[in-house]
Amino acid sequence: MSQDVVTFVSKVVEETIRTDQTRPQPEGLPYINPSSMARGCVLAVAYELLGTPKPELEPRVKRILAVGIDGHRRIQRYLSRLTVAREVFFQDEEYHVRGYADALLYIPSAVNPPAGVGGRPTADISGFYAVEIKTTGTAEFERIVAGGQAKPDHLLQLQVYLWGIERYYQVIRPQGGLVFYENRDNLEHRLFFAPRDDSTLLPYLERLKAMLARVAKGELPDGGEDILPLDHWAHGYCPYLELCQAGQRAAEFQKAQRKGTPDQVVAKIIVDRIVPKKRREGGKLKKKGPRSLDELAEQLRWD
Ligand code: SF4
Repeated sequence: MSQDVVTFVSKVVEETIRTDQTRPQPEGLPYINPSSMARGCVLAVAYELLGTPKPELEPRVKRILAVGIDGHRRIQRYLSRLTVAREVFFQDEEYHVRGYADALLYIPSAVNPPAGVGGRPTADISGFYAVEIKTTGTAEFERIVAGGQAKPDHLLQLQVYLWGIERYYQVIRPQGGLVFYENRDNLEHRLFFAPRDDSTLLPYLERLKAMLARVAKGELPDGGEDILPLDHWAHGYCPYLELCQAGQRAAEFQKAQRKGTPDQVVAKIIVDRIVPKKRREGGKLKKKGPRSLDELAEQLRWD
């Protein structure tokens, strides 16, 4: 057996050296990346698999992404006392998915918590957990904290990790995951737990699998659930928006919706987001004009 292990691992090492790639791509379509799946648009994944060119990112956006990658390494260190692996590889041939989870944690039995960890849990939380790390600006961080849960695209990406790790390693079954958000402006952080939930992921994987067969024949998905609804937020962030007719229709629809939004509703959205934040911080709203938002809210009798 020991010789089998050496032979197998040696083959993997030699292949990696020979191809100079830790992730050699298959002939034909490349693997689907979990971050591309996260927004939930099968058409966008199809564009990516076909190598459709994306607009070049602005230098400022590239720098923000680079800061995010550096932040990942630092945040992974914060988790190191519970970490069994970082950048956990997984690959699935049936659904043609391949990726890396940011970290895999193992919480030892609650009866025997790790030395120095205070506040013994009331329930047995021992087991494996996948982690998705995200860094955000202040506005988004505040929105997420106020909403009390991780963003849907981040939750979906986390579910792909949970599913992918179990499919690939078989003996590891993460019972849930965590999305770790860090505000890159002030390094405040917040964690959100999500249990394993295949109810959204499995139907989505089936649609992706059907898309793979179509893309192999040179066809794109042409409607139904494979394209996000008109009012979905993700069209506006999609790198294929310019060339995607469905995305263009969605952009027109959303523009018309915004035009029809009464000023009071826009102002209320601002108050709902900014006033609670200031209250939480115990601070006062800055006076830019004759009235603060608090005063405006009070005057218009907004709750
Ligand atoms: S623009 Fe919208 S519909 Fe088109 S690929 Fe992107 S997310 Fe999908």
